[in-house]
Amino acid sequence: MIELRGVSRTVSSGGRPLTILHPIDLSIPSGTFFAVLGPSGSGKSTLLGLVAGLDAPTAGQILIDGTDITTLGEDALARLRSAKIGFVFQFFHLIPSLTALENVSVALEIAGARDARARAARLLEEVGLTDRGHHYPSQLSGGEQQRVALARALANDPPILLADEPTGNLDSRNGRLIMDLIRDIRERRGTTILLVTHDAALADMADVRLTLRDGRVVERSESAVRPGRAPEARP
Ligand code: ADP
Ligand code: MG
Repeated sequence: MIELRGVSRTVSSGGRPLTILHPIDLSIPSGTFFAVLGPSGSGKSTLLGLVAGLDAPTAGQILIDGTDITTLGEDALARLRSAKIGFVFQFFHLIPSLTALENVSVALEIAGARDARARAARLLEEVGLTDRGHHYPSQLSGGEQQRVALARALANDPPILLADEPTGNLDSRNGRLIMDLIRDIRERRGTTILLVTHDAALADMADVRLTLRDGRVVERSESAVRPGRAPEARP
């Protein structure tokens, strides 16, 4: 469960305070597919960065499974992030000097997992890239790079996946492929998905859609059917 209570963010812009996210309250139950829409500059990435603990809010509390992450120090925050959160970005952010397999396995190796390579290979299989493990990012198409990034985000089997315009740099066919994978991941693993997208068709796959404008919620809609599994069903 992700909960935001009165969360806002104000930054200094040209020496003046600028509120880029006005106070927001939000509850995202485990297993929910939650989409954030809105024009460029509306605060979508700001919201995701706060939930990931990459930025601190100016006010308010952010609870992840009951833990207020705004009270945590750097180490505790890093531990919580590695245990609970996977992140996918618009521009993939793969490490260019590592192969696809190494990009996926590196976090597992740092965490001391003994079967890091085997797990990374299984994750590549899950995103349909079994035969691309030895390729470097520059040898992969955009769609393939994003599938590697998705496998990497899943390496620690996080209960939460944050995705910031993951299809924004892909053609529609590859975008659709990534969205189908994200939907499969949610159905198979019960993962909570918090997705930023510009694409209304992709957002239609979500259970809840929130539209931001100028740092404020201007619209919220929910789908009737909630196919997500309860958190108890997670393996
Ligand atoms: P979106 O992801 O919806 O395009 P962002 O959350 O990235 O929007 O940014 C929202 C607004 O806040 C934008 O106008 C952006 O320029 C501004 N902004 C974001 N971070 C900072 C910062 N650290 N300092 C000043 N302005 C910022
Ligand atoms: Mg953004």
